[in-house]
Amino acid sequence: MAAGFPDFRLGSVLATSFTATLTERCGEALERIPTPQRLVDWLAVSGLAVDSCTTAQLELARELRESIHAAATAAAIHDAPPASAVRIINDRSIQGRAAAVLTPEGTREWRLSSASCVEDALGVIAADAISVISGERDGKLALCASPTCQAAFFDTSQSRTRKWCDMGTCGNRQKKARFNANQRENPS
Ligand SMILES: [Zn+2]
Repeated sequence: MAAGFPDFRLGSVLATSFTATLTERCGEALERIPTPQRLVDWLAVSGLAVDSCTTAQLELARELRESIHAAATAAAIHDAPPASAVRIINDRSIQGRAAAVLTPEGTREWRLSSASCVEDALGVIAADAISVISGERDGKLALCASPTCQAAFFDTSQSRTRKWCDMGTCGNRQKKARFNANQRENPS
């Protein structure tokens, strides 16, 4: 992994792991794929390895990411997704030519049409976003309760009452903030 860049925040859902490459959207936003190479790194850890990425492909990826973010946020608050976001998600999905293959171990892998085809990887992410936003998958889109985050995340908990996009970061921070506020109010 390249040093000096912020870590990735990987969840179990591809589409929302992808939107989480930009965090603290409502605070001091942190870009976790600032360079084409960082997108290559992210794709590799997400099971979509590519050899290379151009600046134009990174732009395409970020455009898709923001479209998924917009559509998922709308879905979380039961709004219709913005038409421009729908168009971009669909374009990426249609133009991707990745194939799902079954490994000898019985797991799924994505086979891209060529090793440099970032568009194929984006197609897989777009299709994943469609399955989540459309309600095809078991779970519920919700918005993170952290005021500086408010990221759309996919809640697959039994009770569907998850409050934070990520327990280790947003959840923890909120708990600490509450603890500190209590300490101030009730100094012992
Ligand atoms: Zn969050």
